[in-house]
Amino acid sequence: MNHIEPTSPPAHTELMFQGIGVSKGIAVGAAFVFNRDTVLVEDAPVSEDDVESELARFHLAIERSEKELAKIATVTEQKIGHVYSDIFTAQIMILHDRYLLDTVERRIRAEHKRAGAIVGEEISRYQQLMLASNESLFRERADDIQDLKERIIRNLSDGQLLSRIPENAVVVSKMLTPADVILFSRQNMLGCATESGGLTSHAALICQSLGIPMVVGVRNVEEKISSGDRVALDGYVGRLILNPSPSTLQQVERKLKRRRSAAAATEKLVGKVTRTRCGKRIYTFSNIDFKEELPMCEKSGSDGVGLFRSEMLFIAHGKLPDEDEQFEYYMELAHTLAPKPLTVRLFDVGGDKLLYSSYKEQNPNLGWRGVRILLDVPEILEQQLRALIRANIHGNIELMLPMISSMEEIRAVKKTIHRLKTDLRKEKALPSESLTLGVMIEVPSAVELIDDIAKEVDFVSIGTNDLIQYTLAVDRNNDVVQNLYNKFHPAVVRMVARVVKSVKKHKRRVAMCGEMASDPLAVPLLLGLGLEELSMTSASLLDIKKTIASTRLADARMLAKECLSRSTASEIEHLLKHFHSD
Ligand code: PEP
Ligand code: MG
Repeated sequence: MNHIEPTSPPAHTELMFQGIGVSKGIAVGAAFVFNRDTVLVEDAPVSEDDVESELARFHLAIERSEKELAKIATVTEQKIGHVYSDIFTAQIMILHDRYLLDTVERRIRAEHKRAGAIVGEEISRYQQLMLASNESLFRERADDIQDLKERIIRNLSDGQLLSRIPENAVVVSKMLTPADVILFSRQNMLGCATESGGLTSHAALICQSLGIPMVVGVRNVEEKISSGDRVALDGYVGRLILNPSPSTLQQVERKLKRRRSAAAATEKLVGKVTRTRCGKRIYTFSNIDFKEELPMCEKSGSDGVGLFRSEMLFIAHGKLPDEDEQFEYYMELAHTLAPKPLTVRLFDVGGDKLLYSSYKEQNPNLGWRGVRILLDVPEILEQQLRALIRANIHGNIELMLPMISSMEEIRAVKKTIHRLKTDLRKEKALPSESLTLGVMIEVPSAVELIDDIAKEVDFVSIGTNDLIQYTLAVDRNNDVVQNLYNKFHPAVVRMVARVVKSVKKHKRRVAMCGEMASDPLAVPLLLGLGLEELSMTSASLLDIKKTIASTRLADARMLAKECLSRSTASEIEHLLKHFHSD
């Protein structure tokens, strides 16, 4: 009988996978499959001369881990009680387990292996025993031990997150965190493709800032691609191509050239003040994550920084920077930009960004995030505020509070600012009496309270990335529901209209710093609704300036009125496309 082999594509056949392009650009190179569940450890052997320093490194890592865990345990106890903080206290006990410490020491001396590798093996052995237990409690605890193992290994490498990849790779992974993107960018990551993530996930926003192409929503991407495979990644159309043929490579090359010459054509707008076609001045600002983006911000003719995501300092330092470190950083930013404004959003940790504690939440986006953490851990808030107030030498720093959902939060921060200003005045370290304060509008309750909020602050900035997620109950990082994450949903459009109208009525400034402001399709609508300040990634600025320059306000207002009368996103989108093509 003839046996028919199942056919599989020959080794070098071109294969195309469709995802969602979340950061524009094209990358061609060798793939690197990154599995973020695997903590990478150094594997070079320890020389005889280095045994003592390896032992010292190990003890330092244990000490650091203990400090971190003690802090987490204290905060957790204050926040949710000792039932949860006991998890961390138990981890500290394991850190002091004599058997573990002795075994690691003995093996470093005898085997000349790295402490990280031995810790990994020894703790994995504990985990195996726990997983084999009949007691479900023991089995569940195996995960906590995983956390402990990773903590020690991370602390063994001077607190840096351990992520080593080859230079110039196209990284393929189930998911990437903002920290991964930053670390990999240092190894000149050419582009990345992931299974999870969305247009406004923080990893995507950072890729946009750094100009690294990214495609998300590629199902089972890790199984389809192997490290070393040649791939082409097209962030414009959301495509990942395995083994691109010569003709595909030519097409990709041509596209890149076309994009570059289109970008060059808009460059003449750089030095020009942005005005609508009828002459109305519109301010276009940059969203930045690092100071390294300032030259790009300057190059694209931005009016200043409308959003500095200060939480990225956590990543750059691998830990919470102290007051003086922050002061230096803010000074440099403010000085470089002056007299243009620097809008610093206070640390918005939590959600899909860096976790402040290793306490895992079921729903991090609805959990301990942004201003909630700042108010619960006053030392973080106070250090940051003191650094910012001290750094306001040119008077161009504006503060912005993240994730505001109640008046109490705004008032509590204002009270702290008042107290710190009094202290700093006494210390003769208050360079400017005035301090502009604004809040992000990114939670529906803040929209509902907008009249009260407007009276309390100097300005508001609409963060559509979160406002859409919280209004439509659609996780901004979940590719499965990305089709429902729609900025043109009438509820979103009406909320923006309401915020702008109310804030202007109270004679305060209103801006938008969510990604909606960087969509040329949305901009005429935003102008029509009355927005005069838009903040976006520098890479989008020139395109948006062009759109503004070609829009007449009277037409934009008519368009906005029409959009507000529609009850579905597709009707609104249809109106906007029609306007755009005119
Ligand atoms: C937003 O939510 O729109 C925003 C600008 O903040 P982030 O994207 O950092 O959450
Ligand atoms: Mg936000």
